[in-house]
Amino acid sequence: MKYNRILLKLSGESLQGTQKYGLSTDVLHSYAEQIKAVVGTGVQVGIVIGGGNIFRGLQGARKGFDRVKGDQMGMLATIINSLALQSALEDNGVKAKVLTSIRMEPIGEYYSKAKALEYLEAGYVVIIGGGTSNPYFSTDSASALRGIELEADVMLKGTRVDGVYTADPEKDPAAEKFDEITFDEVYRRNLKVMDMTAFTLCRENGLRVIVFDMDTPGNLEKVLTGEKIGTLVKL
Ligand code: UDP
Repeated sequence: MKYNRILLKLSGESLQGTQKYGLSTDVLHSYAEQIKAVVGTGVQVGIVIGGGNIFRGLQGARKGFDRVKGDQMGMLATIINSLALQSALEDNGVKAKVLTSIRMEPIGEYYSKAKALEYLEAGYVVIIGGGTSNPYFSTDSASALRGIELEADVMLKGTRVDGVYTADPEKDPAAEKFDEITFDEVYRRNLKVMDMTAFTLCRENGLRVIVFDMDTPGNLEKVLTGEKIGTLVKL
């Protein structure tokens, strides 16, 4: 395998599958199978999941919710998703722990770098829920932060799109995909890879990011064996 330790970011929205809201057990199990395959090779897997399938603070604020409370609702949504993935992983025979950025035992142990590393080294998949624990951040930022802290070799951003394009491929049929691109070029071209906070964290700390389509079974393993799947964003 090309990488020993990865930080996988899964979007909350992708967990809803074809539904308009909530959790699809099909997607959860398909993700669990893909994760199982790579854990079996000895790769250490940390995971941060979004909450967009349940609640986003910004959308809540547009409907009149207080932004901070809305963001806290969003962070709780990420914990619901973390537990759902943990359950799917365990159903598939994979050892998994949920650590939370907000104290809430016994739902999960309180996150620390030391605890996360201890579990990763013992072969557990470590799912870190609760975002950064702060409002006005995203789970992309949480993922960048945990990836840097845990000294992951790469952050894998699993999405429904298979990489970074010159333009939105759903709107512009002439859009072309990059196999590789630098952080500076992403910035110059104003491409949407992650929000700027997450992007800057990765760039300043040299954490490489691979954007790839996690909804095609087998892709996670292909990325880890170094196949040219998705787009690599590097310094
Ligand atoms: N959130 C937050 N702080 C964080 C991470 C997440 O306040 O550090 C909230 C925010 O409201 C966000 C929601 O949790 O909209 C769900 O996360 P996100 O939108 O990143 O999920 P995704 O788009 O990946 O499903």
